[in-house]
Amino acid sequence: METKIETPYGKVYLNFETKHVSLLLSGGFDSMVMLFLLAKNINDHNLDITIHPQTVGKVNTTDDLSKNKPSNFPYADNAVYLSKKHFPNVKILDKEYILAYNSWMDRSKPLVDAQRKITWDLYLNLTDEKKYRVINYNGVTRNPPIVVGNEGFNPEKHRNKKVLAHEDTVTNITVHETMMFVEPFRNADKRITFWLADNMGILNDVLMLSRSCEGNHDLTDYGAKECKWCWWCCEREWAMKEYKKS
Ligand SMILES: [Zn+2]
Repeated sequence: METKIETPYGKVYLNFETKHVSLLLSGGFDSMVMLFLLAKNINDHNLDITIHPQTVGKVNTTDDLSKNKPSNFPYADNAVYLSKKHFPNVKILDKEYILAYNSWMDRSKPLVDAQRKITWDLYLNLTDEKKYRVINYNGVTRNPPIVVGNEGFNPEKHRNKKVLAHEDTVTNITVHETMMFVEPFRNADKRITFWLADNMGILNDVLMLSRSCEGNHDLTDYGAKECKWCWWCCEREWAMKEYKKS
């Protein structure tokens, strides 16, 4: 089954010609909405599909504890909890995870390598397939059309680039044999996930349960609060203010 969802920021394409979907789940706003959107569609269309959330945990990059970052695991678990609570009949597994260093200095290569590894390991371990053995989703969005952030640089610059959209949607798709990669929001900015969260009735829950902030222990009081200063905090604040309510 395939479906398209209309939003003010473009159409979103989803594909369910599979027995298994995997999802890169960071614990941030966008991937939490993505998981919910998958679970909702699988539930509404009564599909026999298992969801495999996959999280890369960030290993600390420094011996100075105050400069380390709080773990993203509790927020990834929150995402699973939220979707399971709303859709108890959908098969959503607990997160699979591995750990990786994440440093902007080396363009996050260990993190991206770890994401690839966890995705392909699952693919190799599964045997049953419909058209695709696994369809792998992520919640990546494009950057805002204006400059946000206080740091004078954008650590997510690679997301500026527009990629080839599938048909008339904002979705990017690549296929390798029986593995399909789908980035439903890749050509839309973060307003699209705010609009979806609001229209699915989960905006307040996602705001409370997710964490987009990349601030360290010093800036976040050891994870007790969001720093309101890092690029990701600024992007989230921008999207919240700018998305169209309907
Ligand atoms: Zn922050």
